[in-house]
Amino acid sequence: MKLMAGFMLVLAGLWAAAFTPARAELDVVHLKSTIEASVQADYPKLDALYKDIHAHPEVAFQEVRTAAKLAAEMRALGFEVTEKIGKTGLVAIYRNGEGPTIMVRTELDALPMEEKTGLPYSSRDKTNWNGQETFVDHSCGHDIHMASWVGTAKTLVALKDAWRGTLMFIAQPAEEIVSGAKAMLDDGLFTRFKKPDFGFALHDGPFAYGTLNYRTGVGSSISDSLDVVFHGRGGHGASPQRTVDPVMIAARFIVDVQSVISREKDPTEFGVFSVGAIHGGTAHNIIPDQVILRGTIRAFKPEVRAKILAGIERTARAVAAMSGAPEPEIKFTEGAKAVMNDEALVNTAVSALKAAFGDKISSSPPLTASEDFSEFINAGVPAMFFNIGVYEPERVAAAKDGTGPQLASNHSPQFAPVPKPTIETGVLAMTLAVLSAFDKYAK
Ligand SMILES: [Zn+2]
Ligand SMILES: [Zn+2]
Repeated sequence: MKLMAGFMLVLAGLWAAAFTPARAELDVVHLKSTIEASVQADYPKLDALYKDIHAHPEVAFQEVRTAAKLAAEMRALGFEVTEKIGKTGLVAIYRNGEGPTIMVRTELDALPMEEKTGLPYSSRDKTNWNGQETFVDHSCGHDIHMASWVGTAKTLVALKDAWRGTLMFIAQPAEEIVSGAKAMLDDGLFTRFKKPDFGFALHDGPFAYGTLNYRTGVGSSISDSLDVVFHGRGGHGASPQRTVDPVMIAARFIVDVQSVISREKDPTEFGVFSVGAIHGGTAHNIIPDQVILRGTIRAFKPEVRAKILAGIERTARAVAAMSGAPEPEIKFTEGAKAVMNDEALVNTAVSALKAAFGDKISSSPPLTASEDFSEFINAGVPAMFFNIGVYEPERVAAAKDGTGPQLASNHSPQFAPVPKPTIETGVLAMTLAVLSAFDKYAK
């Protein structure tokens, strides 16, 4: 505790030289070394937190232990913490005078899969997921986000003499099933607490640590899922003339539906439909009476999405009609909306980040993946979502030019971020982004 107080004084002194309130330009170069010193000094604790969370992951809406850990960290920093927002989420508020309220989000959840990285801090934990026992793995790197989130909070509190406003740090459950953001909003995130003026979130990815990418405008896709049941008439495999074969109908659908993507959608617009599951039948010689298909639809624009959904539905009905089968059951379920990055906020943050990261930060095309951080944006919070890399730059270069193995991406059982440089980058980037907004939008 004493050490921390002394450390804060040193930081405050360094900061005074880097920043004069009353809207001076941020001296990012100076700030960068201050923040780096802060993270460096505190890294062993962040490392321990990261490895503990990594070894004990929890799936969507079960993140009880994880949320309690973060709540304790934030309380120790002087945040006012409210738990169980949106089932397992938490909200941590730190008031520091007149100024904007800035939200920083982390996710809490992991994935129902077995880790195969062989790391000493690997997860061997199991849980119950949809009625089945399964391993759990932080293979999307949300543990990296949590450590960066705590590190950013620590750094901003240590530098509190230099900014004015309110920090609203939120830890969101169930991002992987794109439900947690909505659960928090439905539980009064922006009514029981003040709606923030701006929001930030980061996500890691399989590129070089120390590098970042960002987007203005569309950042990720709109997602919908499809469940179709094709009904037929079951019977003996040797007498297909007595049946209506739903396996044939499903097969035709899977192939024909791709013409919605290749012939109906504008080829210059992004849109994807992938069938991820097909279930039907039991034995070699039985034609089943139904086949169930599950798939995902992604697009950036609502009008492209609408066209794809209409095409899928029409094709499903047509292939059933073609075989004289009953009408199929077709169910679309809305997932995430697209993340729309606020241009002014992104420009403000990027000018600070460029001064710190130079050519290590670049603008990149939108992600075809989806992210329910979009819920907060749609609720009226201008925001920025950016990405940080996790692997050794040499290994990334070798994978790219074919001289080294391909690197595991998020959701792979081999996904293994290098903790220290990744978390350090997360803290530096997020702290600078938040400070740039406090500076630009000071009241
Ligand atoms: Zn994920
Ligand atoms: Zn993720």
